[in-house]
This record gives sequence, C-alpha cells and structure tokens, in this order.
Amino acid sequence: MLLPPINLRRRLLCPACGLLTDEKKPSCVHCNYRFAKGERQKLVRERKRKKKNAALVFFAIFLAMIFAFSRLAP
Ligand SMILES: [Zn+2]
Repeated sequence: MLLPPINLRRRLLCPACGLLTDEKKPSCVHCNYRFAKGERQKLVRERKRKKKNAALVFFAIFLAMIFAFSRLAP
C-alpha cells in the first residue's frame, strides 16, 4: 500500500480523488483539488464526528462482549 507523504493525524479524504490529503494544506496533495472556503473545516468536523461514532460503536461491542462472557461464566 502506498502511503501519501502526509501527516496521518491531519489526514483528510479528498472529495475529488478519494485519496488522503493533508487537512492543513489549501489543496489536495494528489490531484491539486482546491478546497472551497469552509469546505475543509466542514470535512474535518465531519471526520471528528465519525471518529466519535466509531468510538461509541466500539464501546457498545465491548460492552456486549463483556455481557456475553459474563453469561458464559458459571
Ligand atoms: Zn485529491
């Protein structure tokens, strides 16, 4: 897998080419797509929300596993 030369903590999915780009850069490092004013911020916010949702789902699975194991135990 080819990793783009970007900081992974600031990665952002480019809406034009679908590759990861740097959210601090004004344009995509791959296709030079220029983000519209406020578009980047919107995408960053969206990504943070998705991350939060993923954490919640993970936590729910974790709880379900604990529940399942506690029922398995005698
Ligand atoms: Zn791009």
